Amino acid sequence: MRKNWAIALAASIAIGGMSVAPAIADPFKPGKGDQVKLGKRAADDIRKKERVLPASDERTRTLRRVASRLLAVMDDGKDPWQYSFDVIENKQVNAFALPGGPTFFFTGLLDRLSTEDQLAGVLAHELTHVRREHWAYAYRDSQQRALGLNLLLIFTRANSNVAGLASIANDVLIELPFARKHETQADEQGMDIMVKAGFNPTGIKEVFEILSKASSGGKPPEFLSTHPNDKSRIKHLQDRIDKLGRTFPAQKPLPWAR
Ligand SMILES: [Zn+2]
Repeated sequence: MRKNWAIALAASIAIGGMSVAPAIADPFKPGKGDQVKLGKRAADDIRKKERVLPASDERTRTLRRVASRLLAVMDDGKDPWQYSFDVIENKQVNAFALPGGPTFFFTGLLDRLSTEDQLAGVLAHELTHVRREHWAYAYRDSQQRALGLNLLLIFTRANSNVAGLASIANDVLIELPFARKHETQADEQGMDIMVKAGFNPTGIKEVFEILSKASSGGKPPEFLSTHPNDKSRIKHLQDRIDKLGRTFPAQKPLPWAR
């Protein structure tokens, strides 16, 4: 009797498990390979449309040098990310990473920064968005919200996932806002990466101080529209620096800020 009961229980667990586990764990989240393809397509477009500085430019060389120090300490295992780093000649005070790895900084932001550690802070934050797939989760959540409004989408999306991905506009890749919890994760893990790479983590806190100062008296910097800069964000960063309880290398001035 006991044995039969155990078998019956096992069977019901198996059936219950099957009924709750869908065939694809997360059907609306673009896979890593899709993220790389989408990001590459958008990056190619950006390089055609915007004034991208040449590889010989001091700002591009500096960005790539700082990026390579961060990449060297990031353990991405078998992840397919294809990182690239470019500077766009534009007064916008902004930087962004596309899904899959292509990363762009505007000269408007670089002009506001004074140290490599500040630059590393923004970069490490953006790289965390890439490696933790924050865009893919934001996209999934936006699709699920749409499903709640229109059940018909279940059939159209489920049957033409590839077509659906191809139709994702570049704007959606750049402008879809990340969840607040993912912003916090990018702040925290970005700081861990910059510390590991030998940068001074005070740099990222200073970036938010510089940008919030810039927003008093005029148009707020574009970066802040996707990175809400309330006092709690700066305080959270300072708390993490204090918790590390270490002294850090002196910040290194950017070549153009000396
Ligand atoms: Zn962010």
